[in-house]
Amino acid sequence: MSAIDTLPPLREVIATHGLVAKKALGQNFLLDLNLTAKIARQAGDLTQSDILEIGPGPGGLTRGLLAEGARRVLAVEKDQRCMPALAQIAQAYPDRLQVINGDALEINPLDHLTPPVRVVANLPYNVGTELLVRWLTPPEWPPVWSSLTLMFQREVAERIVAQPGSKAYGRLALLAQWRSNARIVLNLPPEAFSPPPKVSSAVVHIQALPAPRYPCDAKVLERIVAQAFNQRRKMLRAALKGAAPDIEDRLLAAGIKPTDRAETIDLERFCALARLVAQP
Ligand code: SAM
Repeated sequence: MSAIDTLPPLREVIATHGLVAKKALGQNFLLDLNLTAKIARQAGDLTQSDILEIGPGPGGLTRGLLAEGARRVLAVEKDQRCMPALAQIAQAYPDRLQVINGDALEINPLDHLTPPVRVVANLPYNVGTELLVRWLTPPEWPPVWSSLTLMFQREVAERIVAQPGSKAYGRLALLAQWRSNARIVLNLPPEAFSPPPKVSSAVVHIQALPAPRYPCDAKVLERIVAQAFNQRRKMLRAALKGAAPDIEDRLLAAGIKPTDRAETIDLERFCALARLVAQP
C-alpha cells in the first residue's frame, strides 16, 4: 500500500477540518487525485527536484506531487485551517513535505530550496498574476526555478502564451516568452473544482531558458512593454511618448512604424527597441 492510500479521501478531510471554501482566498479545491497526479506529471521529472507549491489548501495537488515522487515539497498556505490536513500528509511522507503557514506575497521561500527547483501550484486567482510576474522578473537570469507549472483562469493562461496580433497578446506574453518556453498543457472545466468557479481553467508549463531569446536590459524591456500596452489602442509614438528622446527615430531603427500599435509588435522588435531606448 502506498503512502497516499493511507490518507482519508479529500472530501472527508474537508468535512473533518471544516474547510468551507473562502472566496477571499480564491479557494476552489481539486478533489480528484487522478487529476492532481496528472497535473503533477506535467511538471516533468519530480524525483530529482525540490518543489515549491503555493496554496496547497487541503492538499490534493500536494498528494499528487508526493505520489509522483517529488524529492521534497515546500508548501506555503495562508489559511491556518488547512494546517492539520497538511500535517497528516507530511506524516504519511516523512521528511518530504514542509509546510509554511504564511502569505506567499510576503515570503520568498525559493531561496531555501535546492536546485533544480520546480514551482507547481493551483494558484489563488487573486494573487496568481502577481506571483507569476515576480517569478518571471528575478534579479538574475537564469532564475532559481527551472520550471513553473501553474493553474490559472483560462483567460490568463491564454495571455501568457499569446502571439502578436491576438487580443490576449501583451505584457504577460512578452515577459513569459522572452526568457522561457510557455505552453498550455491542460484545460479544466469549472466542474473539476469544488466549489466550481465561474470560468474555465488551464495549466501552463513554463520552462526557463538558459538565456534570453534576444539581448536587452530587463528593466528597460519591462518598462517600455508596460508603457506600450498601458494604452494598447494608441499608436506607439503616442503610447511611448516620453519613454526616450526621439522616440520616433528609435521606433524606426527597431523596425517599428511609429503608427503601429503595441499588439502587432513581436518580441524581437520589442527587444531591439529596449536596446535602442537604453542608449543615451
Ligand atoms: N492547491 C489546492 C487544490 O488544488 O485543491 C488549493 C488551490 S486554491 C485555488 C488556492 C489556495 O491558495 C487556497 O488554499 C488558499 O487558501 C491559498 N492562498 C490564497 N492566497 C494565498 C497567499 N497569499 N499565500 C499563500 N496561499 C494562499
